[in-house]
Amino acid sequence: MSYRHLLAPLDLGYTTLRNRVVMGSMHTGMEDRFWNYAKLAAYFRERARGGVGLIITGGISPNREGWLLPFGGTLNSVFDLHNHRKLTEAVHAEGGKIALQILHAGRYGYQPMVVSASAVKSPISKFKPRALTEAGIARTVRDYARCARLAQRAGYDGIEIMGSEGYLLNQFLCPRTNLRTDGYGGSIENRMRIAREIVERVRAVCGSEFIVVYRLSLIDLVEGGNTWDETVLVAQALEAAGVTMFNTGIGWHEARVPTIVTSVPRAAFAPLSARLKAAVRVPVIVSNRINTPEVAERLLAEGAGDLVSMARPLLADPDFVVKAAEGRTHEINTCIACNQACLDHTFRNQRATCLVNPRAGRETELVYRPLAHAARSRTVAVIGAGPAGLSAATVAAARGHRVTLFDAGATIGGQFNLAMRVPGKEEFAETIRYFQSQLDRHGVDVRLQTRVDAPLLAASHYDDVIVATGIAPRRPAIPGIDGPNVLSYVDVLLGAPVGRTVAVIGAGGIGFDVSEFLLHRSGEPLPQSREAWLDEWGVDLDVTTRGGLKPVEPATPPRELWLLQRKAGKLGAGLGKTSGWVHRATLIRNGVRMLDGVSYLEIDPRGIRIARNGEEQWLEVETIVVCAGQESMRDLYPTAPATPAANGPRFHVIGGAALATELDAKRAIREGAELAARL
Ligand code: FAD
Ligand code: NAP
Ligand code: SF4
Repeated sequence: MSYRHLLAPLDLGYTTLRNRVVMGSMHTGMEDRFWNYAKLAAYFRERARGGVGLIITGGISPNREGWLLPFGGTLNSVFDLHNHRKLTEAVHAEGGKIALQILHAGRYGYQPMVVSASAVKSPISKFKPRALTEAGIARTVRDYARCARLAQRAGYDGIEIMGSEGYLLNQFLCPRTNLRTDGYGGSIENRMRIAREIVERVRAVCGSEFIVVYRLSLIDLVEGGNTWDETVLVAQALEAAGVTMFNTGIGWHEARVPTIVTSVPRAAFAPLSARLKAAVRVPVIVSNRINTPEVAERLLAEGAGDLVSMARPLLADPDFVVKAAEGRTHEINTCIACNQACLDHTFRNQRATCLVNPRAGRETELVYRPLAHAARSRTVAVIGAGPAGLSAATVAAARGHRVTLFDAGATIGGQFNLAMRVPGKEEFAETIRYFQSQLDRHGVDVRLQTRVDAPLLAASHYDDVIVATGIAPRRPAIPGIDGPNVLSYVDVLLGAPVGRTVAVIGAGGIGFDVSEFLLHRSGEPLPQSREAWLDEWGVDLDVTTRGGLKPVEPATPPRELWLLQRKAGKLGAGLGKTSGWVHRATLIRNGVRMLDGVSYLEIDPRGIRIARNGEEQWLEVETIVVCAGQESMRDLYPTAPATPAANGPRFHVIGGAALATELDAKRAIREGAELAARL
């Protein structure tokens, strides 16, 4: 595929973007601390070197009231210029362009100085905002303009005004949060006034040869959001005020509709960008769940937009564009939309990185240095081709070591082969495809269907042996656990017949995944169609109602499920901050009964007897599925590896084999990469 539309330059008259790929704004955490700007520059430099047309930075507040967190990143004085120039110089050195995102959090700020259109508290911050006075609005408009002018002086090619996702300008725009009765409230013309004044003022101070992207909410997905007709009025007014291009915003952060997690169909919201494109003359950037060059190219070819925004896909692979341009699409490390290392980190105030690419955000710290000519390449055996072993094998081979990778199974991928069978997690197959491409590229000797044991190891001569043998599912000692009505999650995901009534033991990530799997009607095509998904979540893509919400279609689950855990408290509390609520909402809608504080007493053909709050009861179910965590398999790892036999190999252990508790693919892949970088 040639990606003709995606790779076409965009001539804006005074400047040209080299292609249509926009790296959407991602808050990495590095922009908030001045001492991290060198690291941030390295992060952007790699993406610019990888061919991105336009990079948009993480959100920078125009003033202190607009901080998302206390002491967040700002650009409001000449003293900030030095840091920001590090970023713009790094990107320009690689032939890229960069725009600063100006983000005023409004009532989403998690700090006491928060302001908004009206004093309406948000459900996601404990701080109640103060309504801006008219003088406060005028000052805010000036602050935006000052920030934009400073951005221009710092060498940015433009700015993006964050007007969506429920932040300040979106708060002014919608009746949900704008209860004002002055000239900034009431009619849509009044509600959009602050946004129009900001764009006009920015244009006035920055001149006509400066990119001004406006990120406009095309569907708010909250009650009291705007209608499509209002959104078009806003877009046309902002275009007249001087916007260079519109970026697509989808849903407020407080919306109860998922917009970017794995289960959202790819490009689910693209029809909205297409409609905006038909209503304005300036270019439109299409966004949300676009993670492959094929999808991006198709959207542009179909006229859904003029550019494509991808944020997480460029965390996952900085060379996304170069690989597409060179016909190496199969080598792209695809973002699987898990949110585990990017958004979940951001929400925990940790630096954002990527589950499938642990170098993201750590470009200066985790370096895969090729072996120097004089260095002897080592012979390395990697036992286990799960995420940990694949990561170690591919990085070690890329650096120049001679690697042999063993797996007992018939395919590479380890537990990802099970994860990708869960409805909404089909993207996990992309990670296996990526690793296969790297094994091929770097000449790893792959030996499948080869179970390594101590004699096989003793007969071989490796410099290093990496034990990445993963885990075995835990089988709790419950009387009757060996009965024919008990299955492990592995059996279930591999297709074992399951009854109509089911109790799932264990409510960790896998308990939730298996429950979703069991609620799915076998025989239905995966992934789910966009229309079915929109009905399931009550999304009206025509946005004829305020916020684009419609009644949710009632669920017709094929099974009755109980999901059980021993500890007291909400089930799924340990799931990711940005994805756990989606899993919980899905199970609740499908009538799954979730019980905490459960003791498992016995299993027999009737079902399972449990005790809870001092009372015993039988759950009369046909099948019991065990998802009770896992235990490490590390028999091949010597008990005293610190004292290897003379001339024997150095042993290492990573991933689930090292520690099964709190294991996830993020840790497995990171440990593999870090070890291989050190070899
Ligand atoms: P494994 O994936 O278990 O791989 C070990 C490999 O070693 C296997 O292929 C095995 O065949 C091989 N092996 C074992 N012994 C030998 C031997 N003696 N010789 C040769 N080969 C051997 N994690 C997340 O982070 N996010 C998720 O959303 C997520 N979802 C999941 C959903 C499901 C349904 C499941 C089952 C897991 C999920 N996980 C998820 C967990 C994730 O898959 C694991 O954390 C990860 O696979 C662990 O990687 P690993 O390489 O350590 O072990
Ligand atoms: P897990 O998250 O550790 O959950 C194990 C569950 O089993 C818990 O509910 C635990 O709760 C229960 N349990 C533990 N020991 C038990 C015992 N002896 N008897 C009965 N119940 C027991 O592990 P997992 O669900 O197997 O997942 C494995 C890893 O994959 C996890 O680290 C997870 O992060 C990752 N994963 C992530 C996702 C995701 O969406 N991010 C999805 C799937 C998997 P109680 O002890 O309270 O009963
Ligand atoms: Fe994508 Fe997951 Fe990486 Fe985030 S952590 S960029 S969602 S693969």
